[in-house]
Amino acid sequence: MDTKIDQLKQIIPEKYILRQEPMKNHTTFRIGGPADIFVAPENMEEIKAVSCFAKEEGIPLFVLGNGSNLLVADDGMDGIVLQIYKNYSGIEVCGNELIVKAGTLLSSTSRAALNEELTGFEFAGGIPGTFGGAVVMNAGAYGGEMVQVLKEVTVLTKEGEIKTLKAEELELGYRTSNVLKNEYVVLEGVIALKKGNKEEIKAKMDEYALARKTKQPLEYPSAGSTFKRPEGYFAGKLIQDAGLKGYQVGDAQVSEKHSGFVINRGNATASDVMQLISDVKDKVKEQFGVTMEPEVKRVGRF
Ligand SMILES: Cc1cc2nc3c(=O)[nH]c(=O)nc-3n(C[C@H](O)[C@H](O)[C@H](O)COP(=O)(O)OP(=O)(O)OC[C@H]3O[C@@H](n4cnc5c(N)ncnc54)[C@H](O)[C@@H]3O)c2cc1C
Repeated sequence: MDTKIDQLKQIIPEKYILRQEPMKNHTTFRIGGPADIFVAPENMEEIKAVSCFAKEEGIPLFVLGNGSNLLVADDGMDGIVLQIYKNYSGIEVCGNELIVKAGTLLSSTSRAALNEELTGFEFAGGIPGTFGGAVVMNAGAYGGEMVQVLKEVTVLTKEGEIKTLKAEELELGYRTSNVLKNEYVVLEGVIALKKGNKEEIKAKMDEYALARKTKQPLEYPSAGSTFKRPEGYFAGKLIQDAGLKGYQVGDAQVSEKHSGFVINRGNATASDVMQLISDVKDKVKEQFGVTMEPEVKRVGRF
């Protein structure tokens, strides 16, 4: 391991390389054991170099954004976690388009759109992910989705090539894309918006923010909606109707405010969350015959 770290120090500054870094510090669930190696590069060249290094050395590589859709194992993660977040963020404005680096938060992106009086990205203001994570998940809310505004995306391919793809090439669907299947690393993207009225844009953003605050348990750590919306149903309603509102395993709990969220009441472990997810799935299947699929991604040594 020491040799690998020494080699990595040739690629990115030492201050951006951490060993045995607790992943609970990098997930909104505040859950997760240590990553063997954790790096947070600052530019495209470093991202490419780390990714090529991992490939050449046969080290598993996991790309992390803001960790807002993840459940990381209590035993942590093998290999290198490559974080594309604050160190690699920034927005350029070009007419009605924003060119956004993958590590930029969606909240900053929607604020930039507001400042430029551009409409079409209000939906994303309260989603606590990075731009890269939002492309991967085709993140969406309040009738908006990344697919509606995304024009093109620059990715690093598994062959180490930097390519710009049209949004249509990413097969964006409900909370999915082909990014993970193709092992792309999202580097940046362009969103095309429309000129709008600043007050109206601001009013819409405030309305969505208030709706979140009222309906979602934002006062607790979570990874957002735990389950995907089953066709023809609402996950939260099914869970509530199954009598599971407030159901708890250890410190993991089905939120009393919104049954679609599993929250961490303090010291929840990944095993608590896994057990709770499994219990919820079984109960909903038993009572309503509906199969629930988790939206939250499980990663690490489960
Ligand atoms: C309170 C709360 C509310 C939420 N509300 C919503 C909502 O309204 N709508 C919604 O869609 N989601 C919502 N989410 C879920 C989450 O914020 C989104 O899915 C978001 O897009 C995840 O982005 P991230 O940067 O946190 O990605 P992460 O959780 O870090 O990663 C998610 C996946 O993307 C991959 N990934 C991340 N960055 C890159 C990159 N640059 N290149 C390649 N792969 C990458 C990771 O490997 C992982 O597989 C919510 C979450 C919380 C906690």
